[in-house]
Amino acid sequence: MRADRKTRVLAVSNQKGGVGKTTTAINLGTALAAIGEKVLIVDMDPQGNASTGLGVPRETRRVTIYDVIVDGRAVDDSAVQTSVPGLFILPADPDMSGVEIELSQADRRSFRLRDALGSQGRDGHTRYDYVLIDCPPSLNLLTLNAMAAADAVLVPLQCEFFALEGLTQLMKTIDMVRQSLNTSLEIQGLVLTMFDRRSALSGQVANDVRAHFGDKVYDSVIPRNVRVAEAPSFGKPALIYDLKCAGSQAYLRLAREVVARERKRRLQAA
Ligand code: ADP
Ligand code: MG
Repeated sequence: MRADRKTRVLAVSNQKGGVGKTTTAINLGTALAAIGEKVLIVDMDPQGNASTGLGVPRETRRVTIYDVIVDGRAVDDSAVQTSVPGLFILPADPDMSGVEIELSQADRRSFRLRDALGSQGRDGHTRYDYVLIDCPPSLNLLTLNAMAAADAVLVPLQCEFFALEGLTQLMKTIDMVRQSLNTSLEIQGLVLTMFDRRSALSGQVANDVRAHFGDKVYDSVIPRNVRVAEAPSFGKPALIYDLKCAGSQAYLRLAREVVARERKRRLQAA
């Protein structure tokens, strides 16, 4: 373990469903692991798509994020090694939809994940370089836990007409979290997903997003790619299913960009 390196916690978030959050968490996580980073994916979506997509079937999820958030179980005991070396997952649980009610009276209910990662994921015997939190498509207590625990948000944006509209809401949420739960929350970047280079609309949306957010938008654009869509049904990340496909290669480029941004940030902070 590289003692000089701190864990970076990134919340992959957008309250809109179907924009590529889970696909990005799985494949960015795999790509980061492939370039030598130690990665934990935290599946915060009760639907558990990240867990399934990484080949952890429901019946084998003995310890889940639910046990960590509700019962205070250690992250180190709960994370599962995936078939990708260096990539671990803290699986989701369908029961998580009840978390909101279970925690309604709990102490520090928005900080359950932050507290758990603070005592284990960052400092425990398994120190990760990156923790990627796959957020649910809503602004609920689970998303607040993710944003309270995160150093930065990574926003996947689908290249379609309503992309920017949803973003306004997300930026308001991030501001609200900064004012209340997590004053130092940053935006790591925005990634354009499901880009179709034959579609004028895709290009127009990409231009609009870049005009608004400038260099917060990663240069790497994730193309719409059938291999990326197929991979989860085999319980594999696209990078394992078909490393050469355009989608896998785009996620590898994105991983290098994410790491470069982190390196730059550390240098500026030093
Ligand atoms: P979210 O987690 O934001 O709801 P998903 O990652 O589950 O979104 O993606 C929504 C759907 O789009 C899924 O069926 C997924 O397989 C598909 N998808 C995501 N990214 C791509 C891509 N680059 N190319 C083709 N299909 C994609
Ligand atoms: Mg999802």
